[in-house]
Amino acid sequence: MTTLLDQISTLNDLPSTLDGPVLVRVDYNVPLKDGKVADTFRLEMSLPTIHTLLRRGAPIILMSHLGRPKGKVVPGLSLRPVAESLSQLLEERLSSATPSCDPPQVHFTPQVLGEEVSARARELSPGEILLLENLRFHPGERANDEEFARQLASLAAGYVNDAFSACHRAHASVVGVPQYLPAFAGHQLVREVEALGRVVEEPARPFAVVLGGAKIADKLPVIQRLVELADLLLVGGGIANTMLAARGHSLGSSLVEEEMVEEAGKIIQQCLSSHTRLVLPQDLVIAGSPQSTEMEILEGVEVPEGMMALDLGPQTINLYQRHLRSARTVFWNGPLGYAENPLFAGATRALTLELHALHETEVVVGGGDTVSAVREVLKSHPELRKGFFLSTGGGASLEFMAGRELPGLSALTGEGN
Ligand code: ADP
Ligand code: MG
Repeated sequence: MTTLLDQISTLNDLPSTLDGPVLVRVDYNVPLKDGKVADTFRLEMSLPTIHTLLRRGAPIILMSHLGRPKGKVVPGLSLRPVAESLSQLLEERLSSATPSCDPPQVHFTPQVLGEEVSARARELSPGEILLLENLRFHPGERANDEEFARQLASLAAGYVNDAFSACHRAHASVVGVPQYLPAFAGHQLVREVEALGRVVEEPARPFAVVLGGAKIADKLPVIQRLVELADLLLVGGGIANTMLAARGHSLGSSLVEEEMVEEAGKIIQQCLSSHTRLVLPQDLVIAGSPQSTEMEILEGVEVPEGMMALDLGPQTINLYQRHLRSARTVFWNGPLGYAENPLFAGATRALTLELHALHETEVVVGGGDTVSAVREVLKSHPELRKGFFLSTGGGASLEFMAGRELPGLSALTGEGN
């Protein structure tokens, strides 16, 4: 099987003869609070690629989107605070790694394109970094405008895509620019494709899939594919509620996707008629509302009127942990309860700690809310263990796993060149 990665050039293929800056598409769509970056996780993810390019002596131009400014300048969505935060991060990381090196300078252009940007790009020296303003301030980004892509490309001698999470969008910085420049995949993008690819192509077995979260409707294609592939399916969250409803249990006022009950029944049937073993909750944590400050453990799964199932019960947690110990590959998407309230984060917390301690098992966690919940649990672990991968790809990861072609990856295979 030729894998997608065989068709993509990576940073190892970067020629030493590139004459000019490298334009890097990153995903710096970070949360801001009081005009500052509230979480630097995405910035940290981009450091390996930045370090490689710095070592190669290439001036770097970084570009990203932030939020949804709809093609207009929205001052609250400027990337300026990101430039400050990145500068600080590079200073901390580089001074601890190589104390004698000067940290690279991070410059910021308050425009996306224009005379001034071109001039600054030309003047960049090796070891310097320029971050462009939010790409989506320009309507050409989302419209994949040819002229916009061409102008971005004219700033540089090479292009790197390190924004896997943007690869499901046919936007100018993702699919347009690589038509005009030699194009390479960044380290984080390669890690995502490798980790997710292994899960859907050749998982070490037994392969367990843990599904929770809220939206079966949005995730149906990937759920169906995973159910086909998995040896074991463990469910929690809103998905479990909807499956329990399909089995005829009463769920009180729990989150149940009524329009998906039939589909949930089909997934149960699909498991019964294949080798996939489905395990449903046996007990639950219930309360009057997600914001409740009190909870009750419910034996069984008949939720009384007016109460909501908000987390898995202790017996179920125990059962899922035992099952996971026998797995060799685990893919997990969707929090197992209403984890925003620590009272209902018990199952999500317990499974995170269990999976992080299973050193022989390859674990891939995907989904925006799931990854935040898991990071919250592991925040006291400075390093994640080897083989425990947090996918930052969000919607792109799920599309990739459902077997869809991602335009941003196709653009790197040379089909667009
Ligand atoms: P991801 O972003 O990781 O793909 P989803 O967006 O599908 O995950 O689901 C996350 C949401 O599901 C969270 O807001 C969480 O509170 C909610 N959720 C999980 N379990 C329950 C539950 N039992 N009742 C209500 N909401 C739940
Ligand atoms: Mg979500």
